[in-house]
Amino acid sequence: MSHFEYRGDSLYAENVPLAAIAAAHGTPVYVYSRASLTENFLAYANACRAHGRADGRGALVCYSVKSNSNLAVLSLLGRLGSGFDIVSGGELLRVIAAGGDPRKVIFSGVGKSREEMRLALSHDILCFNVESIPELHRLNDVAGGMGKRARVSLRVNPDVDPKTHPYISTGLKENKFGIAFEDALDTYRVAAGLPHLEVTGIDCHIGSQLLDDAPLLEALDKVIELADRLHELGIMLHHLDIGGGIGITYDDERPVAVADYLSRLFTRIDGWRREQHGGKPIDILFEPGRSIVGNAGVLLTEVQYLKHGATKNFAVVDAAMNDLMRPAMYEAWHGVQPLQRRDDAGKLYDVVGPVCESGDWLARERRLALAPGDLLALMSAGAYGMTMASNYNTRGRAAEVLVDGDRFMLIRQRENPADLFALESIPE
Ligand SMILES: *Cc1c(COP(=O)(O)O)cnc(C)c1O
Repeated sequence: MSHFEYRGDSLYAENVPLAAIAAAHGTPVYVYSRASLTENFLAYANACRAHGRADGRGALVCYSVKSNSNLAVLSLLGRLGSGFDIVSGGELLRVIAAGGDPRKVIFSGVGKSREEMRLALSHDILCFNVESIPELHRLNDVAGGMGKRARVSLRVNPDVDPKTHPYISTGLKENKFGIAFEDALDTYRVAAGLPHLEVTGIDCHIGSQLLDDAPLLEALDKVIELADRLHELGIMLHHLDIGGGIGITYDDERPVAVADYLSRLFTRIDGWRREQHGGKPIDILFEPGRSIVGNAGVLLTEVQYLKHGATKNFAVVDAAMNDLMRPAMYEAWHGVQPLQRRDDAGKLYDVVGPVCESGDWLARERRLALAPGDLLALMSAGAYGMTMASNYNTRGRAAEVLVDGDRFMLIRQRENPADLFALESIPE
């Protein structure tokens, strides 16, 4: 269910008219719905529960922090029982600042530094998702130096085509991510031979915005095959991590329901454990990002100027590619809804920002009835929106607001331009 809907001609987030938020905090501003975030997380948690895996026992949802890392979002999810999938030391510090449990943190990414490894080990995180042999050696070194053993999982590359945008597909042979399927057994042998590592799991993450779960289940089958081969070598795994990747509706996409995907996945896993391992359970980890936050957020912006040309009409708004990079980067499509609907057929507009790049567009060829000063919502902007924002053109990043029923709270102040150059200095 969407918590961003019209009541009469006004667009609301839960019980709050979005125009009230723009009036209180200005634009551009990201707005998130607490009810949406909660429902989207519970879709995973309840599906785990329905398959006998309750309260983090037998399954753990590790929310992908990079999709939306605001402390208020992390805190809400942490209190619902979420673990966290991080890709940097900075994200670990965010999780801790938000009150998240570091022992429910898994650390992904191809380029972990020694400092990041030390930080994560000092907080006793659940597992490192390791992506190469040199990374295994570095982690073994760092853990040894601290007198610790690091729990590791290897990110294998199942070479499955997720049929998504090339920039967000990660599980093909030619991608930089993971360990090639055919090298996985040898890499596990290396890991098992290193004294300061404890091999605990296997993981994969094949891509993002997957509408169908067939590629995920295909990847699962390949991971299961590897787990069995490892078992024969005497390497027992405690967990299997299938990554994130479930898509959302931006326009008219119809993504698989999380409950249906998890039901097929758990059925497959339970059957496998019964047949091959005498019913011995294995923990299942998920790393969802977009499917939890994507449709729980919008970006509000104000129309500055209308330019009506011979071939094109432009609506110049106060949000730009630095606020929401997805259209410029992936040609991503975001819905555009006026906060106040007009009774007018409108015109076709390209919605563009003030940044000095032709690539600075947010939406193209949309039929809108507009006047300068109108407010618009860019829909489905909760994931990879604010976290990918930059300060290009010395634009302060947007404010963020969380709606909860009838109330709304500022959860990040708008950046002040003076802050943007505060760390700079002019040589004598
Ligand atoms: C980005 C990422 C995710 C989250 O992907 P979504 O498509 O947002 O669910 C999960 N795991 C890893 C390793 C990632 O890099």
